[in-house]
Amino acid sequence: MSFGLIERYRDRLPFAPEDPVVSLGEGSTPLVHAPALSERVEADVWLKYEGLNPTGSFKDRGMTCAVSAAVREGAEAVICASTGNTSASAAAYAARAGLRCAVLVPEGKIATGKLAQALMHGARVIVIRGNFDQALTLVRELVERHPIALVNSVNRFRLEGQKTAAFEIVEELDELDALCIPVGNAGNITAYWKGFNEVGRRPRMFGFQAAGAAPLVAGAPVQHPETVASAIRIGNPARWEEAMDAMTSSHGAVRAVSDAQILDAYRFLAAREGIFCEPASAASVAGLLAHGAGGAQRIVCVLTGHGLKDPGTALDQVAAVVPCEPELAAVERAVLA
Ligand SMILES: *Cc1c(COP(=O)(O)O)cnc(C)c1O
Repeated sequence: MSFGLIERYRDRLPFAPEDPVVSLGEGSTPLVHAPALSERVEADVWLKYEGLNPTGSFKDRGMTCAVSAAVREGAEAVICASTGNTSASAAAYAARAGLRCAVLVPEGKIATGKLAQALMHGARVIVIRGNFDQALTLVRELVERHPIALVNSVNRFRLEGQKTAAFEIVEELDELDALCIPVGNAGNITAYWKGFNEVGRRPRMFGFQAAGAAPLVAGAPVQHPETVASAIRIGNPARWEEAMDAMTSSHGAVRAVSDAQILDAYRFLAAREGIFCEPASAASVAGLLAHGAGGAQRIVCVLTGHGLKDPGTALDQVAAVVPCEPELAAVERAVLA
């Protein structure tokens, strides 16, 4: 029997015992020590493997709360703008709750697995000829006119759910000096900081953006964000102020990493740590490798989503398969080459 995070942390979440709970058993993800990475950065590094949530990303932590709250309020439908994972998660939790779900995604930029999930769970998938920022502006306007619950991370229940990842980390680590995390719409870093503060712990928060989509680093919105890390291809983060506050008040920083650095870290994690995350997730590790974490000795990198979400990018990165005749000599040559 596995319990979801509302059951596990109800005393610290805005849900009463009699409230409806829509759960797929999210949260309680592994915190895995990373020996190869630790050796490279000469510190102790753990990976918070959020790809092991039910739909394969941390978005499920927020979505169990957002959809449960929507049901409590009597909503019949939910909507979100998404670079992919929010739509997969919203579609799954909406299906579970018997709600209708619509998602707006940017044209051509959504990873195959995420699209398959949203469609399989029965969401109406609307492809916008534009980017994520435009899609978010549109859904925010739409919910002003219609009784549909918005489940992007502008929804406060999303952050409430996502802060529980910080609880899980401090329950496992007595000491933590720094957290490294990818930043897109900046909801997750905001949620972690809230969670840490609620338990009186204040690790330094290092946020990493893709160089082609790094508005917080530039200090201004980016009109045409571009990066291989599609989950953080966002030019105007909704939680801008809160994220900057988390990094400044924790004496952390926000920095950019190039797509090449992201892909290096992505391959390194798969090949050396045995952990397959998606490209956006690898930005946390790419950032640690490129910029360090202010001399911190005990570091957690958040791996936000599973590598299986985006098989296309993976296959572009690796050696081709080895064709072989079904004969022992040929197999021997192929195996031992
Ligand atoms: C949503 C997402 C992010 C970015 O999180 P924000 O809260 O938007 O900053 C990073 N990685 C993955 C895999 C995501 O799905």
